[in-house]
Amino acid sequence: MDPVQLRQDIVEVGKRLWTRGYVASNDGNISVRIASDRLLVTPASVSKGFMTPDMMVVTDMDGRVVEAAAGRKASSEILMHLMAYRHRPDVHAVVHAHPPLSTGFAVAGVPLDRAVLAEVVTTLGAIPIAEYATPSTPALPASVEPYVRTHDAVLLANHGALALGADLFAAYYKMETIEHFARISLTARLLGREQLLPREEVDRLQQLRDRYGIASPAPVCVDPSVAGEADCQVVVAGADVPVGNRGEIQLTYSQLTTLIDEAVRQLAGTPAHSRG
Ligand SMILES: [Zn+2]
Repeated sequence: MDPVQLRQDIVEVGKRLWTRGYVASNDGNISVRIASDRLLVTPASVSKGFMTPDMMVVTDMDGRVVEAAAGRKASSEILMHLMAYRHRPDVHAVVHAHPPLSTGFAVAGVPLDRAVLAEVVTTLGAIPIAEYATPSTPALPASVEPYVRTHDAVLLANHGALALGADLFAAYYKMETIEHFARISLTARLLGREQLLPREEVDRLQQLRDRYGIASPAPVCVDPSVAGEADCQVVVAGADVPVGNRGEIQLTYSQLTTLIDEAVRQLAGTPAHSRG
C-alpha cells in the first residue's frame, strides 16, 4: 500500500461522504490500517468534504499519535476504530458517518434486519443497532463491540452508522449500501409492505459469501416480526442441537456472538479465560 495514495484515497472518500450528505459539519471519521501497528486516521474537527492529504494523523494501535502536522489531533472516535481492528484481523479500513436515512432507523430503534435485497443479504447480512453510548467516550466502542465480530455494518443508536472493510473503498461502499438499503426499506414501509425473501433463498445468497471472500458471518433474520422480539432474532439453519419443526434454532445476537466467539477461541486454541 502506497501511503501517499492512501492519504489521497481518504480525502476522496471524505469528499464522497460529504457530497452525498452522509455527514454534516465536522461529523464522521475514516481510518486505514497501514501496518500491523500503524493507523492512518482523519483529524479531529474538520469537514470530511474539504480535507487535504497532509491533515491525516498516523497513530499506533493504542491510539498514540506517531506522526501529525502541527496542531492536528486524531479523530475523537479513534477508540471505536481501534476496537474494530482488534477484533477483526481481516478489516483494514473503518468508515463512520451519520447518513440521514440509516441514522433515522437508528434513532427509531428499527434495525435493518429484513431479508429483502439479495446484494445486502450476501454482503452485509442483517444490520443490527448497537445500544446508545455517548460519542467519543469508551462507552461507544463497548456498545459496538458485541456486533463487530459478526457484522461489517452496524447502526449506532441515536447516532449514525459504522462500516468495516478489507480496504478503504470496500468500507466506504458498505456505507453506501447501508444508506441505500435504508432508503429502499423506508420506501417499502411507506408503501405499506415488504415482501421478504424465503429462507432457502437467504441460505443460497449467504453461501455466496465464501465465493466473494466475505469473512464476517453476518446472519440474517428472515422475518424478525415472527419472533416477536424487540431485538433481532437470528435463525441458524441446520445447527446440531435439538430443533423445532423447521430444523432451525433461534438465537439472540448476544447468544450468537457468544457462540461464534467460543468457536473462534477453540480454533485459535486459546482458552476463554486467558483472553483480555
Ligand atoms: Zn459520529
